Amino acid sequence: MQTGKIGVTSENLFPIIKKFLYSDHDIFLREIVSNAVDASQKLKTLASKGEYNGDVTNLKVRVKFDKDAKTITVSDNGIGMTAEEIDRYINQIAFSGANEFLEKYKKDANAIIGHFGLGFYSSFMISEKVDIITKSYKEGSQAVKWSCDGTPSYNIENTERDEAGTDIVMHVNSDSEEFLDEHKIGDILEKYCKFLPVPVIYGKKKEWKDGKQVETDEDNQINDTEPAWTKMPADLKDEDYQSFYHRLYPMAEEPLFYIHLNVDYPFNLTGILYFPKIKNNFEVQKNKIQLYSNQVFVTDSVEGIVPEFLTLLHGVIDSPDIPLNVSRSYLQSDSNVKKISSHISKKVADRLAELFKDKRDEFEKKWDDLKIFIEYGMLTDDKFYDRAMKFFLFKNTEDKYFTFEEYEKLIKDTQTDKDKKLVHLYATNKEEQYTFIEAAREKGYDVLVLDDVLAPHLISRFEQKHPDHQFVRVDSDVVENLIKKEDSAKEELSWEQKQELSPVFQAVCPENNKHTFLVDFQDLGETGSPMVITQSEFMRRMKEMSA
Ligand code: ADP
Ligand code: MG
Repeated sequence: MQTGKIGVTSENLFPIIKKFLYSDHDIFLREIVSNAVDASQKLKTLASKGEYNGDVTNLKVRVKFDKDAKTITVSDNGIGMTAEEIDRYINQIAFSGANEFLEKYKKDANAIIGHFGLGFYSSFMISEKVDIITKSYKEGSQAVKWSCDGTPSYNIENTERDEAGTDIVMHVNSDSEEFLDEHKIGDILEKYCKFLPVPVIYGKKKEWKDGKQVETDEDNQINDTEPAWTKMPADLKDEDYQSFYHRLYPMAEEPLFYIHLNVDYPFNLTGILYFPKIKNNFEVQKNKIQLYSNQVFVTDSVEGIVPEFLTLLHGVIDSPDIPLNVSRSYLQSDSNVKKISSHISKKVADRLAELFKDKRDEFEKKWDDLKIFIEYGMLTDDKFYDRAMKFFLFKNTEDKYFTFEEYEKLIKDTQTDKDKKLVHLYATNKEEQYTFIEAAREKGYDVLVLDDVLAPHLISRFEQKHPDHQFVRVDSDVVENLIKKEDSAKEELSWEQKQELSPVFQAVCPENNKHTFLVDFQDLGETGSPMVITQSEFMRRMKEMSA
């Protein structure tokens, strides 16, 4: 037996670990399991290079716990370690790494709680002692056992192990006994490990027999080693995307459609984003985008990493290039992250443009559900606005869809005002504004329906971006002042007659904002309505703003 002491300034590891990681103890399992996965992947790499001739078809990670012995054990049959490698990778690098980290982020201590791993040493968050029993894949290697109780002292001694690989045995401390629970461990594995690339086995498969769940002899593999986003889009069918969606969110309704991201330059990023169906009250099902790094779950709070409007979407993003083990505030200011964010936004716009171009019918069918995302994107991301103008659709009262450009052509000859501005007439409520819509159509005007919650904001953005365009509600006074193609039929009532009748109708206007209503005897053509009560567009907007 050999005893050693690691040269670190800190006398005890626990303070470091507890200080940084106390908010999320669950991640110890993610770190230990992903190390076991790495060890398996390394062996595969060696085999593919001809540096290892053994079998690599049966590589597995096994997670077990023993309530009586108070241990959680993660085993793999991967690359293993020699005594010398333990010294190099566990004793030296990790300890000094932890200290370096502490030095670097001392000022930022509170901000980094959460999602960073101290890798192997995060096991000490829940353990009073950790053993490593390992045997290297190299011919004739001696198996070794390393033990450490979190002080800088460790023991290392020779031991027996049949095949190459590693067992990490965590002796759970008295504060952490909650982790010695089948469901607790199962839940953590489901959260962090469900898409790891090497099979992870946890207990035996269960099946229902006579109304009871019984264990079978079959290993229970908790993960899908080849999740949809890691495959090529050409190898996937619609059903595959749907079933993957339900693997992510078992309770969710069918999504509208998906975008498969596959970027390898200037950084690596893959993923599938789903546009969820919106409920009546414009509520989005709150399933969050999940962020992965090499198939390891990292977080589902992606604000600051993906463009804000995409936080409404569902799905998965996987990138080894996003610095995952640091704080949220650091992430948000990271220039790489910013680039990734704007790139995702571009990809989403490109895909939408493509869908619009290739399958306009389908695009139009989905538009009513889709538009809220697009509108939100256009309002919050200027570059996205410019890209989206190619496929943003206006719907008119006849349920026909037009792009901005198409619509411009449609109304160019009929709907201009005195200042030669193009006037877009719109209704916010087809039923309530029925008479006005009919009247406007009677005159040969087209009327849009802009009725969702974001429409008022979008309208001001349109007017700001296109100063020669104006948006006017169909029941406003502006409608009458449009330059018409041909002068309409002459009016039936004289000015004096109108003056006389006005007070009669004014009397029935809503009390609270009488001054904003104008009584007007317009030429309403064949609609059968001799007069209208209109609102000044200006006054209406003023009122909306102050509301
Ligand atoms: P990282 O995984 O980021 O390198 P860790 O602290 O998680 O840092 O692990 C430190 C090192 O210990 C690893 O790089 C690896 O060399 C070694 N190691 C940890 N777990 C295993 C394992 N199960 N099998 C083989 N080597 C391992
Ligand atoms: Mg690690």
